[in-house]
Amino acid sequence: MKKFLKRKEAHSSSHSDLDDLPDIPLDPADWKKISKYHPNQRNEVTRSYLNRGPCQPRGHIFKQTMIGGVLRRFNPAWFDKYPNWLEYSMKKDAAFCLCCYLFKDDAGKIAKNNVWTTDGFSSWNKLKDISEHVGGVNSFHNNAVMKCENLMKQGQSIKHALHKQDDVTKNEYRTRLNASIDTSRFLLQKWLPFRGHEEKEETANNGNFVELLKYTAKQKEVVSNVVLKNAPGNNQMTSPKIQKDIVHCFAEEVVKTIIEEIDHDVFGLLVDKSADVSYKEQMAVVFRFVDKSGIVKERFISITHVIYRLLKLILILPVATATVERCFSVMKIVKTDGRNRMGDQFLNDCLVCFVEKDVFQTITNESVIKRFQDIKDRKIIL
Ligand SMILES: [Zn+2]
Repeated sequence: MKKFLKRKEAHSSSHSDLDDLPDIPLDPADWKKISKYHPNQRNEVTRSYLNRGPCQPRGHIFKQTMIGGVLRRFNPAWFDKYPNWLEYSMKKDAAFCLCCYLFKDDAGKIAKNNVWTTDGFSSWNKLKDISEHVGGVNSFHNNAVMKCENLMKQGQSIKHALHKQDDVTKNEYRTRLNASIDTSRFLLQKWLPFRGHEEKEETANNGNFVELLKYTAKQKEVVSNVVLKNAPGNNQMTSPKIQKDIVHCFAEEVVKTIIEEIDHDVFGLLVDKSADVSYKEQMAVVFRFVDKSGIVKERFISITHVIYRLLKLILILPVATATVERCFSVMKIVKTDGRNRMGDQFLNDCLVCFVEKDVFQTITNESVIKRFQDIKDRKIIL
């Protein structure tokens, strides 16, 4: 097991092996059956879960429940005893088994296993049940563990084959990725929405992203040869997820540049909140600092859903400044009635790029490509 499971903290973000793979939720209570995924995606989704490792929120304050007259709770020391499969759901206050969950569809209707895959185990007084779940050599659990190991071995050989991609494929991919980055850059600069109601190359009313890419392809043969209908079906680099990844890379590079600008010096933190168009309270976080040439600067770092971070920042007094106000007015331009379903992360990333335009303009395609390749395993390795 140790060979393939890289244990990570529960708050780490979900990374998947396939570029267009759906995000996998963190808490076991939110997981859907592997059989509910498209057959072509099941193995990759399973690998993503295994790569991420079981959900083990060690710092969580575990809920106490009265069982048989004694207060009992989940003991995080059990994570050390069963590091590779034991999971805890903060939503359900219950334990689960990662391996059995991933392969439970093969099990038919074994009610015993439902405790560890669907319902969750919470009899904190019955410690024996945890070791009994593992069972003998041929137990359902041990078979599931073996299936996990085999799947990861297959994955490694696939990855090995991918490493051997020839230079032509890599160059084409680089051109395609550059075209998607240039397209995103233009839309971010002009505060334009990325997507339309329909996203198909042949439809007339595409979103701005696809339309602009089509236009670029018309101007440059070298781009035209490798994008849209000339790109491999599984490597279009135009899906909403890819668009979000690229924008996220831009935003991360902007924040990195700002942190370099502060250069380990002191800074003030300014926060203020305002409701967006969907009446969600958003809080803007701004750094104020003196730059190397002695000029006082304010830089917008992020917008965050108030409830999440309020506790952490409770001691910081809210201050309204020009930068904070600018951020909120931009938020109202970006997140309009027509785009009120925009996700928090994407909204945050767009805002950072819009508000810190001068920094945004210094971000090179190369640094975005590097970050884009690093944040998850891509099909083509540059
Ligand atoms: Zn199990």
